Amino acid sequence: MQKPARSLIKASDAASWVSCKRRAWLDKQPGTLAAIDPFTQLLSQAGLQHEVAVLSKLEKQFPVHKATSIEHTRSLMQQKIPLIYQAQLFDEQSGLIGYPDFLILHSNGQYQPADAKLATSENKKSIQIQLGVYRRLLATSLPALVFLGDGRAVELHDDLNICADEFVSGMKVLIESQQQPIARYSHSKCRTCPYQEHCLQEFESKQDVSLLYGIHGSVADQLADVGIVTIPQLAQSQTESLPDIPHLKGYKKKHRAILQAQSILSDQVIQLSPIVLPQGTWIHFDIEDNPLTPSRMRHVYLWGLLPPPHREEDFTYSWTDYEFRDYEGWIGFLKLLETYRTNYPDLILAHYSNHEKATIRKYAERYAMQKHAIVQWLLGEKSPLFDLQKPILESLVLPLQGYGLKDICKHPSLVNFQWKNAESGSQWSIVQFNRLQTESDEMEKQRIRDALLGYNRDDVIATHKLTLWLQQWIR
Ligand code: SF4
Repeated sequence: MQKPARSLIKASDAASWVSCKRRAWLDKQPGTLAAIDPFTQLLSQAGLQHEVAVLSKLEKQFPVHKATSIEHTRSLMQQKIPLIYQAQLFDEQSGLIGYPDFLILHSNGQYQPADAKLATSENKKSIQIQLGVYRRLLATSLPALVFLGDGRAVELHDDLNICADEFVSGMKVLIESQQQPIARYSHSKCRTCPYQEHCLQEFESKQDVSLLYGIHGSVADQLADVGIVTIPQLAQSQTESLPDIPHLKGYKKKHRAILQAQSILSDQVIQLSPIVLPQGTWIHFDIEDNPLTPSRMRHVYLWGLLPPPHREEDFTYSWTDYEFRDYEGWIGFLKLLETYRTNYPDLILAHYSNHEKATIRKYAERYAMQKHAIVQWLLGEKSPLFDLQKPILESLVLPLQGYGLKDICKHPSLVNFQWKNAESGSQWSIVQFNRLQTESDEMEKQRIRDALLGYNRDDVIATHKLTLWLQQWIR
C-alpha cells in the first residue's frame, strides 16, 4: 500500500486544526514541514514515556502485539489479538488515517481505540476529535478510552461523533483549498507557532486590527463587519460609534481598544489614571515550575526573591532538584518569608500576574497548610502580596501586543531591561530543568542550575526595574 500522502487527513491533525485553521492548512502544503522546537520535543518525549508506562500496565492484563504497518494492523485484528499496540488505521475512501496507541479487543469481537495523553482533562477538543476519528475508522460503537496524565482512564462516548465529523468535513475543505484560510493574529498562539514569521508579515503589512492587545479574532471579524479592519481605522474611530459586540461591550472597553490602537501607532504610553503603588519595603518574587512531573502536579523547583537593596547579589531562593523534594522547597520558601516578615514589618511582596498567589494557594492545599501562620498572612486580608500587573492594566495603555512582564520590560522605549540570556523564557526553563533531571554529569548539572537561577534572578530584577519605571506614572 502507498505511504499516506500529506493530502490525507490524519487524526493527529486535530491539534493544529483546533488551534488555527491556517496552521492546519500550512501543515498540508509541500515544503512547509515545520521545525520541531526543543519544548515540543520535550513534550513528545514525555508523551512517549507516559505511553510506555500505560503499555506496561496493560501488558499485565493482555498479551500485546505491536503493529508495524496498516496491513499488519488489519492482520492482527483478523487474528483477534487481545491488545494491539501502535495500531495503524486507514480508510482509503475517505482518506482518513489514525494511529491509536492501543486497540483493545472486547467480548463482542469489536476493538476499542485507546490513547495515552499527557493532558489531565478528557475535555480537550483535540483529544475528543482524535478519539472520535479512531472510532469512525473502526466503525465501532464502543466508547473510546483515554489514559490521562493524572492517572485516570476515561471512556468517551457518542458525543465524539459530532466533533469528529465536523473535523473531517472541515479538513476536506481545507485540503482542497488553494488559498490559505484567512487568519487573525493571536498573541498566545502565534508566538509559539512555527509559521509565525510567515503570518506576521501579512498581519503587519495589513496593519490588521487583531495585532492589538485585547482584540481577539472574533472581535476583529465583527469590527470588520462595521468597516474597521486596520489599526489606523480603529485609532480614528469614536467610542460612541463602535457597536457593542461580545468581548468589546461597554464604553470602557471600547474606549480602551481605540486608545490601544493610538498607543501602538504613536509608540507612546497613554495614561488613564495615576498609578498607585503601596508604601513599604519591597521584595520582588517570582517562581519557576515544572509541569512535566511524574505525578503531573506542578513542582515549583525555584522560589526566587530579591530583597533590598535589590542588587544582583541580594537574590535569594529556595531550590529543589526533584519533585520528591517538593515539600522541602515550599518549606524553605515559607522560612525565608518568616525571616523577612520579622525584618520588614511593612513588607510588600511584589510579583507579576496572579500565578504566584494562585500557586501559594495550591501549595497550602497540597500540604494541608491553610492554617500555617505564614500562609494565612500571605493569603489573608493584610496580605503583603502585590500583583504589579493590576495597576498597569488599570492605569496605562502601552504600545505592546501583550502585557506580560517580558513584553513590557524588554521594550526599548519602556523599561528597556534585557535578560542576560536572550534565549531564556518559560518554555526554555522547562526544557532546561528537565535536562537537569536526566543529566548525570555533575558539572553540567551545576551549569544548568546556574543558568536557571540566572534566569529567575533576571525575572525578579525585571520586576524591580518595572517598579522604578512605574514611579513616573504616580501622578
Ligand atoms: S502564526 Fe498564527 S495565524 Fe499563522 S498559522 Fe500560526 S497560529 Fe495560525
